[in-house]
Amino acid sequence: MEAICEVIVDIAHANVDRVYSYLITDGITVEVGSHVLVPFGSGNRQREGFVIRLLPPEETDEARLESMRTVVLKHVLRVIEPYPILTQEQIELAFWMQKNYYCLLVDALRLMIPAQMRGGKVKEKIERTIRLRYPESTAQLLPQLLDKSGKPRSPKQYEVLETLLRCNMEMAVSDVLAFVPNAQSAIKTLIKNGYLLEGDYVTFRRPNMGTAFEDKQVKLNPAQNHAVEAIVQAMEQRSGTLLLHGVTGSGKTEVYMHAIERCLASGRQAIMLVPEIALTPQTVGLFQERFSDGIAVLHSRLSAGERFDEWRRIRLGKARVAVGARSAVFAPMQNVGLIIVDEEHEGSYQSETNPRYGALEVAAFRAKQFGAPLLLGSATPSLLSYYRALSGRYQLLELPERVQNRPLPQVEIIDMRQEFQNGNNGIFSGRLVQLLDECCQKGHQAMLFINRRGYSTFVSCRNCGHVVMCDDCDISMTYHKGENRLRCHFCGSVKPLPSVCPACGKPFIKYFGIGTEQVEEQLHTLFPKAVTLRMDTDTIHTKDSMQQMLTTFSRGEAQFLVGTQMIAKGHDFPNVTLVGVVAADATLMIPDYRSTERTFQLLTQVAGRAGRDETPGRVVIQTYSPAHPAIRFAKDHDYRSFFNYELEQRKKAVFPPFSLFIRILFSGDDEALLSSSVGEYAGRLKAALDERLGKEGEHDILLYSVSPAPIKRKQRAYRHQILIKLLRTARLSDAIQTIYTFAGEHREQLYAIVEVNPQDML
Ligand code: ADP
Ligand code: ZN
Repeated sequence: MEAICEVIVDIAHANVDRVYSYLITDGITVEVGSHVLVPFGSGNRQREGFVIRLLPPEETDEARLESMRTVVLKHVLRVIEPYPILTQEQIELAFWMQKNYYCLLVDALRLMIPAQMRGGKVKEKIERTIRLRYPESTAQLLPQLLDKSGKPRSPKQYEVLETLLRCNMEMAVSDVLAFVPNAQSAIKTLIKNGYLLEGDYVTFRRPNMGTAFEDKQVKLNPAQNHAVEAIVQAMEQRSGTLLLHGVTGSGKTEVYMHAIERCLASGRQAIMLVPEIALTPQTVGLFQERFSDGIAVLHSRLSAGERFDEWRRIRLGKARVAVGARSAVFAPMQNVGLIIVDEEHEGSYQSETNPRYGALEVAAFRAKQFGAPLLLGSATPSLLSYYRALSGRYQLLELPERVQNRPLPQVEIIDMRQEFQNGNNGIFSGRLVQLLDECCQKGHQAMLFINRRGYSTFVSCRNCGHVVMCDDCDISMTYHKGENRLRCHFCGSVKPLPSVCPACGKPFIKYFGIGTEQVEEQLHTLFPKAVTLRMDTDTIHTKDSMQQMLTTFSRGEAQFLVGTQMIAKGHDFPNVTLVGVVAADATLMIPDYRSTERTFQLLTQVAGRAGRDETPGRVVIQTYSPAHPAIRFAKDHDYRSFFNYELEQRKKAVFPPFSLFIRILFSGDDEALLSSSVGEYAGRLKAALDERLGKEGEHDILLYSVSPAPIKRKQRAYRHQILIKLLRTARLSDAIQTIYTFAGEHREQLYAIVEVNPQDML
């Protein structure tokens, strides 16, 4: 009797986001997780789908009876891959995500497989192979193939046999041809005459990891050892979240690698997330050295084929360590013993596209599924994680010192107001120029950090004060000198630089604010002999260009590296002894309750790039607000004081972690219409919330504001928002559910993007 399976059809539409039943023709093997082709809809169009359940026999009868009364069940047409492409755990995870992030089930499932796998876009690459049929006797045979003068009678055949014998293994035909060119027909003859056997195997394209990294096998220091043992203990207990707080250069990566080794030794697998893989080639290189083919790397810069192959190496159990950015949390593993999130405070772990999931939350769910501990690591943990660690929810592990007693860099703060009063209106302080000069003299290298790309951050008229805005967005445009154009960093549109003010017509257009281009230009003026590299999204276009630039810098072929956040994290350049923060104020100015936290984190991370080898490092922070706590505590490398200060501020204002923000964003072409429909929507949502929260939740809603978004217009569309601040209580998840459900039910009338704890609220 034919069995029945439940299928999610691969169409992202709310109307079809449900389970469909299909009959399985006797003789084909369908498993939970199989990728199948099914007839769908009234026209029976062929669609791909995912099998999420096989009905047990008792339910099969029921379903069959039911189907006789309603619709006739259709048959699965065929199974696309020979193995299930989804694991049972991934299917469970997708259901959890559907509920928690209010996304379509199929959207959650799509995160778990490479996009290229859908629609049959990527094929496995198959190689033909050959091997000797009788290796032993071939050795004796070879001399007989020579003629009297000692020359082979059939040179190509002789060489092929000799090569296979020498290599002593099954070889890809393409490899043999590399040794013995033009031997195709010789191989054919050898096969025909029974000397060789043919085969084939599926190859895996490995992404190019760039330069080889030297793997110094170090001996762990006591603090590192203690951390590793605590992690191993949690692995044995199969639970727990650990927060590894280690200052920059304290050897966290070594701790991760040792913990993973122990995890593998116990027969289990490991997942390690890094903020953005392109920004951490060194970490990946090191992992590659240590675990060689046991590691698979997943990130957005892989080619379609590479990504597919890496995924499949994990799925088929060939790779036991998955390293990657946010999406690697979905790696198709089946026996995870440890999940690590490096630089856990990073915003990039939050997905900004649908489904808007938090990789830390997903990691915590998966860890629980597998009975694995979750290890979070950072030099500057997020306020929330550290708060949880102090309150005992997470186990706190500390690496308070740099390895081998290396000192943390000495940080100087330069008050740029003072510089200006002393007659310096350049972008570098006298002190920074002096240190840059010394750095060059000694043959060391320096990194200069500035949070903005482009030449200047805005363009304005000195006569009337007009600021040049994007035509389509409510945001000022940035001047890019290299291309001599203005660029909108919000929507990417460009326009020419006006020679006269568009408002008053006077020729007093002037640039304000500093960007990476200007820093590079100034360095060149001051140090014409030095080589400067600039790293930002304008100079890094391709998958390898970042790697190339980092390699050039690490070889010492440039003295200065100027860059945005891209240069702030992770990099370990032993010869960098000076780090300059050109303007620390840019991040402080952003109107967000997290700007103090973000500035502290960024300054600490950037400073951490200096003096990582034997020569101690120096850091210069230029600022207009030298007394700001974010800057003072970063100067002293004092995370704990920063935490105490900032937590107190958050407590006073009831900001996260004591509360939670939800932003509901709407957009539309007609401003008046948008405003009135959002107003009405907001009223009804508020009523639904009040009802759900009831009497005891009366004071849970701390803020409920309806207004235009801070950036009122994007790509010509107006933007309005509802901003809700909720107290963290037991009723919190009820409130979130209510909002999601409401948004789902009104999707057709007014589309809304619901963001819980959005990374930015612009
Ligand atoms: P973090 O990630 O904490 O900033 P890293 O893991 O990059 O620090 O380590 C900094 C440097 O110290 C690396 O070059 C690493 O090889 C080295 N290192 C790590 N542990 C030790 C140790 N126990 N002894 C000597 N050197 C170490
Ligand atoms: Zn724009």
